[in-house]
Amino acid sequence: MIDWNLIESLLLEVKSEFLSATTRYGPFNSAHEGYAIILEELDELWGEVKDKDGDAMAARKEAIQIAAMALRFLHDITPFTREEKEEHHS
Ligand SMILES: [Mg+2]
Repeated sequence: MIDWNLIESLLLEVKSEFLSATTRYGPFNSAHEGYAIILEELDELWGEVKDKDGDAMAARKEAIQIAAMALRFLHDITPFTREEKEEHHS
């Protein structure tokens, strides 16, 4: 069963991370930059996951950052709304 309260709470954390990164660094300048930053965060998650003494809270923090960086990619590089995307494909 999907816990929608949890989803809402996680999305707030992703939004907050998105805002903090965008305030600090501005928008992604290119798809290559966005990809590189997402990969960096993914590698940091892998660092926590592969370590048998890895910290679940640290892994969680990296997963939030991956979601926020993916949101930056969507916002800055491919900013199509669902409606625009449907128009594009019809
Ligand atoms: Mg990180």
